[in-house]
Amino acid sequence: MQLSENFTLAELTVTSTMLPNRPNDAQLDALKQLAKNVLQPLRSLYGRPIDVNSGFRSVSVNISVGGAKNSQHCKGEAADLSCDENALLFNLVRNHLDFDQLIWEGGNAIAPEWVHVSYKASGNRKDVLQMRSGKYTAI
Ligand SMILES: [Zn+2]
Repeated sequence: MQLSENFTLAELTVTSTMLPNRPNDAQLDALKQLAKNVLQPLRSLYGRPIDVNSGFRSVSVNISVGGAKNSQHCKGEAADLSCDENALLFNLVRNHLDFDQLIWEGGNAIAPEWVHVSYKASGNRKDVLQMRSGKYTAI
């Protein structure tokens, strides 16, 4: 199923675990909103393919990968992204798009290892954080 021009449901439900990972209707709707409002516009700004490392996670998948409790991944609201230029990806989201949380995940001062971004149907907080060694700080 195509969620937007360049993003499929298969990409956004990928898991390296063997656990079931199928969103319900509300979670699917959230994934569509994420694709429409963040992923696709970001893809257009960047101009090249972006890898989705993790999108939707069922509760069992989230536990299995050590995700945060109450993770927005479990609601279909978040995706972890990477490409050849992760710092650019981060800044494109920060400067051009609406989002709930944007996190510079791991890596170093030059580039994050990956970019976490979430989107809600309403009440987006525009939190910009850095996660290093398991600690989150506003940046
Ligand atoms: Zn994430």
